[in-house]
Amino acid sequence: MSDVRNVIIIGSGPAGYTAALYTARASLKPLVFEGAVTAGGALMNTTEVENFPGFRDGIMGPDLMDNMRAQAERFGAELVPDDIVSVDLGGEIKTVTDSAGTIHRAKAVIVTTGSQHRKLGLPNEDALSGRGVSWCATCDGFFFKDQDIAVIGGGDTAMEEATFLSRFAKSVTIVHRRDTLRASKAMQERAFNDPKIKFVWDSEVAEVQGDQKLSGLKLRNVKTSELSDLPVTGLFIAIGHDPRTELFKGQLDLDEEGYLKVASPSTRTNVNGVFAAGDVVDHTYRQAITAAGTGCSAALDAERFLAARA
Ligand code: FAD
Repeated sequence: MSDVRNVIIIGSGPAGYTAALYTARASLKPLVFEGAVTAGGALMNTTEVENFPGFRDGIMGPDLMDNMRAQAERFGAELVPDDIVSVDLGGEIKTVTDSAGTIHRAKAVIVTTGSQHRKLGLPNEDALSGRGVSWCATCDGFFFKDQDIAVIGGGDTAMEEATFLSRFAKSVTIVHRRDTLRASKAMQERAFNDPKIKFVWDSEVAEVQGDQKLSGLKLRNVKTSELSDLPVTGLFIAIGHDPRTELFKGQLDLDEEGYLKVASPSTRTNVNGVFAAGDVVDHTYRQAITAAGTGCSAALDAERFLAARA
């Protein structure tokens, strides 16, 4: 059986690598499971990141994550590109099992498994991500100045994205598959009163068109099956996020949307010695910098927990 580590970190986005950097610099020798396919997290799938402080001219998402990884490694974080497939977090010594079935033990665990934005499930969607297709108006809105944009969804997030985007865009078309919105009344009113925002009701996206860049959408009316073209150069998909918490069900408290609950403003979960940070906790901000910030908090919380236990 392996030695008992001070801290194991599950997940490798900005939250996980920041927690790794801080715990490594505190001489805790963290063991980090980065994920098998998606090591580096959500920013590995994007192009330019212009809003991470410290990079005046912006930085490519994968380069930012490579830098974070190397910085954590420089101070002694041990990084493993593998998935954790099961956990047992209840005891004083926590165990996590990797995909080969090896059990790893630690006194503290930091969970930074992120969340997955829901996709339309259409062929061109991934290929045009960062090339007109986006899941985050705060991140990418600025790139779409004076352009025609579509926002897909009918909830609060879709309304918020649309009203934010209308500051930059020439026009914003909200495409919703029903004839009423799920969004709160206040958010609906803001969208209805915005002269740049139009609505296409009872419709879904049938095709995401474009070669190297998004050139338009083919829409299908779900009642009549009629097809229509929407020429846009920006597509914001706002149909929800799924936090990656399957592994922790029954062990850690989750909220009604499946996000891990923490004793805010700390990163403590309901289980002693288990901390959580980044998008797996956060359904409000969902930014690289906020994930990195809470990753730092989780490292400091774990460090203090271990010091008090020693
Ligand atoms: P993530 O980055 O999602 O990382 C979680 C990691 O945990 C993943 O690597 C995953 O593989 C790993 N993991 C999950 N389960 C396991 C497991 N069982 N075992 C081991 N590992 C596991 N934000 C900005 O601030 N600016 C931007 O410009 C910007 N652009 C974006 C563009 C795109 C296309 C997307 C999708 C997001 C963008 N964001 C941007 C949002 C930002 O990427 C996220 O807020 C941030 O990455 C969240 O960090 P995180 O560490 O919480 O999780």
